[in-house]
Amino acid sequence: MKQSRTARRTHGFTESVIREMTRVANQHGAINLAQGFPDFPCHEVLKDAACTAIRADINQYAITWGTPRLRRALAEKYRKFYGLEVDPEEEIVVTCGATEAMAAVHMAIVNPGDEVVVLEPFYENYGPDAILCEARPVMIPLDPPDYRLDPDRLNAAISPRTRAIVLNTPNNPTGRVFTREELDAVADACREHDLFAITDEIYEHIHYEGAHIPMATLDGMRDRTITVSGFSKTFSVTGWRVGTIVAPPDLTAAIRKVHDFLTVGAPAPLQEACAAGLESLGDDYYRQLAIDYRARRDSLFPALVAAGFSCTCPQGAYYILADFSALSDLDDEAFSRRLAKEAGVAPVPGSSFFQDPGRGRSLVRFAFCKRIETLKEAGERLRSFAARNA
Ligand code: GLN
Repeated sequence: MKQSRTARRTHGFTESVIREMTRVANQHGAINLAQGFPDFPCHEVLKDAACTAIRADINQYAITWGTPRLRRALAEKYRKFYGLEVDPEEEIVVTCGATEAMAAVHMAIVNPGDEVVVLEPFYENYGPDAILCEARPVMIPLDPPDYRLDPDRLNAAISPRTRAIVLNTPNNPTGRVFTREELDAVADACREHDLFAITDEIYEHIHYEGAHIPMATLDGMRDRTITVSGFSKTFSVTGWRVGTIVAPPDLTAAIRKVHDFLTVGAPAPLQEACAAGLESLGDDYYRQLAIDYRARRDSLFPALVAAGFSCTCPQGAYYILADFSALSDLDDEAFSRRLAKEAGVAPVPGSSFFQDPGRGRSLVRFAFCKRIETLKEAGERLRSFAARNA
């Protein structure tokens, strides 16, 4: 039998469908509500600080695990917002986005043959993150319309091989902000079975209901939680690729080694700019961020309902998972492409958030991290598409 020219570890997953849909949107000149990146500018403080850093010749490698100024500012933020004491010398790694952070964390703590529990629907990177470590992602299904975590399903997913539970709150793609009760169920399972919690908290400042509760603040969880976040969403700079990891010192030491050999480090001048953002933007900035996102949600959500989609209003993050079965019998891939071409609005096919593609067959995800004008125009286009196809 002819040997494959590529390594087996690359065979268990496909290219990112989210990024693919950006290419499809560009091809049709469609409004890109697929990949979650803002179409509005970041704060002037960040732009100025980035330019200043480049002009001040901060253009060489930073310390591999992050500039001292950024790590200090981040530790201060965790203390101020969540009452978490974080040692910037021993417990922080700055990475090339939360994407690298999640991959580096998996490589640092997950062994081949382990299982990693993931809540489904899930952000598409978590599957490959486990598979690249030759581990097996094990899904816990969350059911619409509430997408609540059922503790019985959680317990049923855990086996002697389980190493970690991945939790993303506020959640992409469901919009859930998990409650204290749900987080407690995850924490109980971690304590009882000696597991790690890998939490992706990249949307920590974007929520409309409830409060964001970092897993690391729960009793006994500080020592078994790896908290991933970053500045892409909080500072609207997805192209800067500056992510962060907070973890206990022994785990941080392993994560730093992986990170160093993967990327050496995140862009030095942009780390300075993120530090300046943390230092100079006050509570008002974060409050306004959530207010602005609420207005964007409140523009797109009713437009989707009016166009015939069935969806749950998100409590946080900036996505809406929408059922289109009342509009079309096509599958999610074909419908997404049709929407990009004929309506001029590109979503992400729902199947990319499920291990079994069948579960996402009549779903698409819309991102609302866009200017109100963009969202209004998208809403109009969807309404007129639905009217033409009624
Ligand atoms: N997190 C964003 C999304 O879900 C962007 C993903 C990416 O391309 N890194 O669309």
